[in-house]
Amino acid sequence: MTVTNEQKIMVSFKNVHKYFKELHVINGVNLDIKQGEVVVVCGPSGSGKSTLIRTVNQLESIASGEIWVDGVNVADPKTDLNKIRTEVGFVFQHFNLYPHLSVLDNITLSPIKVKGMNKADAEKLALELLEKVGLAHKKGAFPNQLSGGQQQRVAIARGLAMQPRVMLFDEPTSALDPEMVGEVLKVMKDLAQSGMTMMCVTHEMGFAREVADRIIFVDAGQILEDREPNEFFTNPQTDRSKQFLSQIM
Ligand code: ADP
Ligand code: MG
Repeated sequence: MTVTNEQKIMVSFKNVHKYFKELHVINGVNLDIKQGEVVVVCGPSGSGKSTLIRTVNQLESIASGEIWVDGVNVADPKTDLNKIRTEVGFVFQHFNLYPHLSVLDNITLSPIKVKGMNKADAEKLALELLEKVGLAHKKGAFPNQLSGGQQQRVAIARGLAMQPRVMLFDEPTSALDPEMVGEVLKVMKDLAQSGMTMMCVTHEMGFAREVADRIIFVDAGQILEDREPNEFFTNPQTDRSKQFLSQIM
């Protein structure tokens, strides 16, 4: 996408800190993500990427600072977290589909239960989303009848069924067999092109280069680089990012 200055800021971290006991896992993070922007978060294992992304829908609380999602400070104790979680979709490494529910029922469950959507509308929406992720023909299947890549595509459709403003992805392809990575990245790329605001932790640097508007490089809970993909890949600025890129490319 082309990002202009006038575009509204969808997610904003303001001087965010978090600790796990003595570990300073998020150390003064400032980050603005504009509506429609796709931000890829990368960095060494244990650098705090998952913790950072999980703070956006408050799966992890923070010690200080502010996190704004579409004008609401999610770190404020008065904020209704259930509402935030309907507005922020999350796709994990492990798909966590409900094993006893069909694909269709996995997708309609939250829209019906949490949003109060009627069943017919929820099923219509679910079928549209299954169409988008290429799995309409699997609507009656159960998760254990699907490949890992198919399950992850259902998990993305399930996230989208809540009609979120932001989608978070935490290494969505890293538990998949290599031949299934592409089909999931394709769905994410289509989603990015549809204008969704996305924050993705991934080590898929091809995806990052092609789809991301910005790359955030995190080390020891700090953002060391926040740059355009081409600049990041061709001219990393820190020893840590150079070392990281040399290990994964
Ligand atoms: P990444 O996703 O970059 O690999 P994480 O955010 O998962 O990093 O973890 C950052 C650091 O915080 C690691 O040292 C990890 O061991 C630690 N950590 C993560 N979750 C917890 C937790 N619930 N309790 C204590 N330490 C944690
Ligand atoms: Mg992680």
